Amino acid sequence: MNQMIKGNTGDWEIVIGLEVHAQVTSNSKLFSGASTKFGNEPNMNVAFVDAGMPGMLPVINEVAVEQVVKTGLAINAQVNLRSIFDRKNYFYPDLPQGYQISQFLDPIVGKGEILLDMPEGVKKVGVTRIHLEQDAGKSLHEYNPKFTYIDLNRAGVILMEVVSEPDMRSADEAAAYLKKLRSIVRYIGACDGDMEKGSMRCDANVSVRKPGGELGTRCEIKNVNSIRFLHKAIEFEAMRQVEIIESGGMIRQETRLFDSTKGETRTMRTKEDAHDYRYFPDPDLLPLELTQEFVDNIKKSLPELPDQKKQRYMEKFGLTAYDAGVIVAEQEYAEYYEQLVAKHDPKLASNWMTGELFGRLNKAGIAIQDSPITAEKLGGLIGLIQDNTISGKIAKDVLDLMFETGKDAAAIVEEKGMKQVTDTGAIEKVIDEVMAANPDKVAEFRSGKDKLFGFFVGQVMKLSGGKANPGAVNDLLKKKLEG
Ligand code: ADP
Ligand code: MG
Repeated sequence: MNQMIKGNTGDWEIVIGLEVHAQVTSNSKLFSGASTKFGNEPNMNVAFVDAGMPGMLPVINEVAVEQVVKTGLAINAQVNLRSIFDRKNYFYPDLPQGYQISQFLDPIVGKGEILLDMPEGVKKVGVTRIHLEQDAGKSLHEYNPKFTYIDLNRAGVILMEVVSEPDMRSADEAAAYLKKLRSIVRYIGACDGDMEKGSMRCDANVSVRKPGGELGTRCEIKNVNSIRFLHKAIEFEAMRQVEIIESGGMIRQETRLFDSTKGETRTMRTKEDAHDYRYFPDPDLLPLELTQEFVDNIKKSLPELPDQKKQRYMEKFGLTAYDAGVIVAEQEYAEYYEQLVAKHDPKLASNWMTGELFGRLNKAGIAIQDSPITAEKLGGLIGLIQDNTISGKIAKDVLDLMFETGKDAAAIVEEKGMKQVTDTGAIEKVIDEVMAANPDKVAEFRSGKDKLFGFFVGQVMKLSGGKANPGAVNDLLKKKLEG
């Protein structure tokens, strides 16, 4: 949904385009055989070419090419059989070559699209391009504040940059885009998607405009490293721009930083233009030429992707688009769900998994792989609901206990005597008690105050400790009250 900002002069629309840098999964770097192992001592993963030694020549890593082609195919993008590596020239201590090898005019992947599962429906976001490039090293200041140390382990590591069209209209859509892209690259194994480790980083381009008007001037917020921060940064930035424009100012195109402790963005540098980098084709590298056969083979190797899985779940299990979207977001969720539906009602399975289980896992900060409640165990609980042993309400309490103790649902229900009472005789006894205790209410009901029915249901449920079967309570109460 388009997120509007209310200003003094009316509504403003937020326009967002994202540039996502994803570290491509491979054992070696883009143009050298050096290892990419995470967590090694500084400067252990460095080949001469990564250190910019004279006379060293780059050699393309085929895995990098496969991974980015896979990603392109997974978002229905055009794969370019001929692409060019360019030098993007700038000086920085962690860039010993003095340039970054990237792709400028002729990227390996062209236009594609990513579908977002928003609560109000599916939203299509265009992808402009994906290109391959090298990562830079790191400057370290922690050893001695007077010096800067350079770690080249990351220098030359493979990045793919996925550039979106300015198609997003809310912070929620931007967050959904990043999640969806993350989900896709994780499905195909092109990137581990770990934002905490920096395997995925995002630059957010934000502008505001009057609805339907011309695009406004954008600011680019660099290196946002979590989905939560992306959300905050966009909202802060859009608000800032509206305030400037409405007080008569102009937005300067610039690069900004998000300060997560203050929750605000601030100027980092005025925006550089592409020509400032003096891009030119890297004379050390030939154009990258792929055969259609190479691309076709990769296409054949693609696994079932989130959108396909979602479609299948909707058709086969009758799930809503939104619920199916939630479940297919992670392969681990989908596996868990498939274990559940092998034996249980698909709707109940989806509700209990995405509502109750996810709620508890999120609160405890536990990943589904480490859930104390396995699919087998949650299935046990759902089975008890399905065969009317317990009501849905009691089941929530049972789930809490399962979460705490790791015990099976059946054992908990047995131990705590939580079985649902369906025995009509027992329920009738409770109803009689309730009616005897409230003769005035019974009279009122009988003289036409229908609304009191809910009161009686509530009292009977309460007295039965929530264990009476709600259907039976309803039927019997009606009979007794009206009779
Ligand atoms: P640069 O390298 O200068 O950042 P790119 O063309 O690589 O430029 O990236 C531009 C990004 O900014 C794209 O994601 C694009 O969708 C987005 N963008 C372009 N114009 C606007 C705008 N007016 N408002 C918001 N985002 C925009
Ligand atoms: Mg940019």
